[in-house]
Amino acid sequence: MKNLLGGKGAGLAEMNRLGIPVPPGFTITTEVCTYYYEHGQSYPPELDAQLREAVAHVEKLVGSKFGDASDPLLVSVRSGARVSMPGMMDTVLNLGLNDTIVEGLAQKIKAASGSPRFAWDSYRRFVQMYGDVVLGLKPESKTEADPFEALLEKKKEARGVHLDTELDEKALRELVAEFKAEIKKRKGRDFPDDPWEQLRGAIGAVFGSWENHRAVTYRQMYNIPSSWGTAVSVQAMVFGNQGDDCATGVAFTRDPSTGERRFFGEYLVNAQGEDVVAGIRTPQPINNASKRQPDEKSLEELMPAAYADLVRTYERLEKHYRDMQDIEFTIAKGKLWMLQTRTGKRTAKAMVRIAVEMVKEGMIDADEAVLRADAGKLDELLHPMLDPSAPKKIIARGLPASPGAAVGKVVFHADEAVAEAQKGERVVLVRVETSPEDIHGMTAAQGILTARGGMTSHAAVVARGMGKCCVAGVSAINVDYGKAQMSVNVDGKVVVVKRGDVLSLDGGKGEVILGAVPMSAPALDEDYAQLMKWVDERRRLKVRTNADTPTDAQTARNYGAEGIGLCRTEHMFFAEDKILAVRQMILADSVGERRRALDKILPMQQKDFVGIFKAMDGLPVTIRLLDPPLHEFLPTEDAQIAVVAEELGVKPDVVRARVAALHESNPMLGHRGCRLAITNPEIYETQVRAIIQAAVEVKRAGVDVQPEIMIPIIGHERELAIMRALVIKAADAALADAREKIAYTVGTMIELPRACMVADKLAAEADFFSFGTNDLTQTTLGVSRDDAARFLGDYVKRGIYPVDPFVAIDQEGLGALMRIGVDKGRSAKPKLKIGICGEHGGEPSSVAFCHSLGFDYVSCSPFRVPIARLAAAQAALKDR
Ligand code: ADP
Ligand code: MG
Ligand code: MG
Repeated sequence: MKNLLGGKGAGLAEMNRLGIPVPPGFTITTEVCTYYYEHGQSYPPELDAQLREAVAHVEKLVGSKFGDASDPLLVSVRSGARVSMPGMMDTVLNLGLNDTIVEGLAQKIKAASGSPRFAWDSYRRFVQMYGDVVLGLKPESKTEADPFEALLEKKKEARGVHLDTELDEKALRELVAEFKAEIKKRKGRDFPDDPWEQLRGAIGAVFGSWENHRAVTYRQMYNIPSSWGTAVSVQAMVFGNQGDDCATGVAFTRDPSTGERRFFGEYLVNAQGEDVVAGIRTPQPINNASKRQPDEKSLEELMPAAYADLVRTYERLEKHYRDMQDIEFTIAKGKLWMLQTRTGKRTAKAMVRIAVEMVKEGMIDADEAVLRADAGKLDELLHPMLDPSAPKKIIARGLPASPGAAVGKVVFHADEAVAEAQKGERVVLVRVETSPEDIHGMTAAQGILTARGGMTSHAAVVARGMGKCCVAGVSAINVDYGKAQMSVNVDGKVVVVKRGDVLSLDGGKGEVILGAVPMSAPALDEDYAQLMKWVDERRRLKVRTNADTPTDAQTARNYGAEGIGLCRTEHMFFAEDKILAVRQMILADSVGERRRALDKILPMQQKDFVGIFKAMDGLPVTIRLLDPPLHEFLPTEDAQIAVVAEELGVKPDVVRARVAALHESNPMLGHRGCRLAITNPEIYETQVRAIIQAAVEVKRAGVDVQPEIMIPIIGHERELAIMRALVIKAADAALADAREKIAYTVGTMIELPRACMVADKLAAEADFFSFGTNDLTQTTLGVSRDDAARFLGDYVKRGIYPVDPFVAIDQEGLGALMRIGVDKGRSAKPKLKIGICGEHGGEPSSVAFCHSLGFDYVSCSPFRVPIARLAAAQAALKDR
């Protein structure tokens, strides 16, 4: 249903089916949107007749008539994509008014002894929204205020009032005229009087908003295909702006920040639509339990009957959807109307807590809790937080709108945030409040700070969705965009924070801190442990890590890694204490000289391996022998060359000549990996000896050591046969010297298409395969990862590859080769151990793919281990 009706339309239909009061309406499906874009922005011919029919049906249900001056039906025209894109597209309220109809409406209200002011308030809102959304009267520059808001402000000033609710009918009448005049002046268009023309215009604008800048940005961010389109819901208006027995609000059935089970939201009396979110007046807490200040007036106190209805409704909705809901409602003359329900966006912390508690409450089972968790989102939980023991200078407090920590330079504009982030700067975006136009800046920033807006403000909702830290509604700060600074009064002294100054934010506590606070590792709670226990009980794939240092290995182990799938030895070579010996080894012009250099390297490598084996006591460790081309270790700049020459006691020109000799046109396909050892076997021999001696050393210290030696860039079974013999000879010699017995295995990386095609022959020489999908992607697609930045973005934008193939496995192309590799490998050796160690090993869709191919394990960077565990469990559950 969601695919056709959009999330909003489906939610409305479902609530209606459940007998929950929803204003009558209908939904134009996403198919019409697709048609609209495929046919030069025109509608299917049958739409008009269907539209009239549907409106007639609504008229019957409501008992008033669209376009009728004596008893008019007003409607809202609302956008709704399959997945919610909060605030990204446009909505028009109170549609169906003109100068005649508004008078009719006012008369009708007067007759019912209501205040006609409300008719004009609705008209004012309609002209404003329609003028913006459909007629396109918007600010033309970064600094210009919204033209309608400017006129509204001016009017309030002229009348000496502060709030929109204080403007009387006369002021509203004037505003409508001023709005229309402004539209005419700046857009050269008359405001349409015909309600049907208004309706068609609004529907077109909603479809049009699918391709607006912020919607496109949002879709790219969340990988939402542009082909999905939006639906349009047309719905009879109910009015929260008819006086003090009316209200409008937004609520969450559980706390979207922490996951705590408490009903929680905000509302405004005598208000409409997005007033609560837009920060026009300060919204009030929905119930007494969520009051922050004693002088706040909750809905629970003010309209107890409607509040009780709301509680009953939210409980029903949560039970029905079996998930936390984000709801929108309006109270018209004491009666509650539901206007939206959707599965609420939440932080990772809330995601885990809600899932675990819902299992305990019996609402869902553990399988469902595991399936529901968003693997990509878990990442958030593993981010560092502000070190609780570090001293902090708190300069202001606001709402803890989205947890997490941010340290960065202050910027005041979204574009600036993007520009600075591109330069590699960490920034904190400070705004009076954010709007959908700021979305790209919010993406680029570490954290967001706003002076206005509540827990349901745009900044709060979007930041939580992004898993980004946000402190909102810090009313103590004064933001001055013109001067690019903010100021705040701290204990009677004004502190000025300028653009570029550093701030730290604590989104969980709502603290704004001057300067940079150091970060520390996150604390993972019991709910997380429970969820991951369920995860581990369900997955079949093992999860290992890619780690080159004992610290990384330990971190990964803490996150649940079950071994090392890739330990790269070259990083060790770069270490300052080793690089000289490594350069000596490379620059050697005889085998004897090379061996002498390698003899120096051996004990150092051995020490590296000892640390890693200890950290991985009881778990397998796959060590890859040297892979990159040798020139990568050599200096390129004259100054450095001079230093090396001096160190080695040769002339700089000797070094320079050797560097030049090692130059390759295409090093990715050059003298690297096992090819190094085909020409210079002593390099691998030394590495193997270091590995085995380290294994012996730790074994004697009581460690259960399980070395797996892996050969890179194998394409031919003869290569592998030679390498395998080399490794076994060197390893057995080292074991014999030490008079020890240690089981070890020898395997190969699969990172060339040829390796996949001859995998059966390779399997005869290998104890295991590990798919190196970074190189395999490069060699299969013929795309160099280091050069892809220039064009791959466009490929993804144009949908050639739906996702960057270096991020998620290209299952169709690369995947087909992998399947051949697995099938051939296992046909020769049915029990062949198979894993993956490319970056893809921690990406959820790729993990699922490896599961489907029957891999034994995936291996990924330490911080992605929990993500891979979850993705593996989900894949296993989907198999059932
Ligand atoms: P968004 O997708 O930006 O949330 P909506 O379509 O939900 O936009 O509209 C925003 C707000 O407008 C709703 O939360 C609701 O308060 C108000 N609204 C929409 N339709 C109606 C209606 N028929 N009657 C009263 N208020 C409405
Ligand atoms: Mg909106
Ligand atoms: Mg809404």
